[in-house]
Amino acid sequence: MTCPLCAEDGGALVWRGERLRVIRAQEAGFPAFYRVVWNAHVAEFSDLAAADRAHCMEAVTLVEQALRQHLSPTKVNIAALGNMVPHLHWHVIARFDWDSHFPAPVWATAQRPSPAAQEAAVRALLPALEAQLQSQLAQWAAR
Ligand SMILES: [Zn+2]
Repeated sequence: MTCPLCAEDGGALVWRGERLRVIRAQEAGFPAFYRVVWNAHVAEFSDLAAADRAHCMEAVTLVEQALRQHLSPTKVNIAALGNMVPHLHWHVIARFDWDSHFPAPVWATAQRPSPAAQEAAVRALLPALEAQLQSQLAQWAAR
């Protein structure tokens, strides 16, 4: 069986480095749902060497900071599950008190309809967020 994260980016590619990439997932109801995907196929975080773990979490941190700066979310959720696709990836998700699942996890049952206007307002901020994030990740990777 082919691993989907080995075969494809796994979403809209924001940035790709030598060791990892950042993608925006297409998850209905969650416009600012990003993933940091390790490029090589490893299943568990502890499969990475210490330097690679630090590298991975610094990328997660940069994504989280971009979400906070541009979107002022109620909360940022970070998670690594991999039950469906056992290829290391971190979810970095901007959560809002108006979103369809808040305060439950995005994988729980929806509690209310997703408000289209608020979602659209977040979506409108993503080009600037992603442009700045691309630039920051490129500068970070070049250090
Ligand atoms: Zn894989």
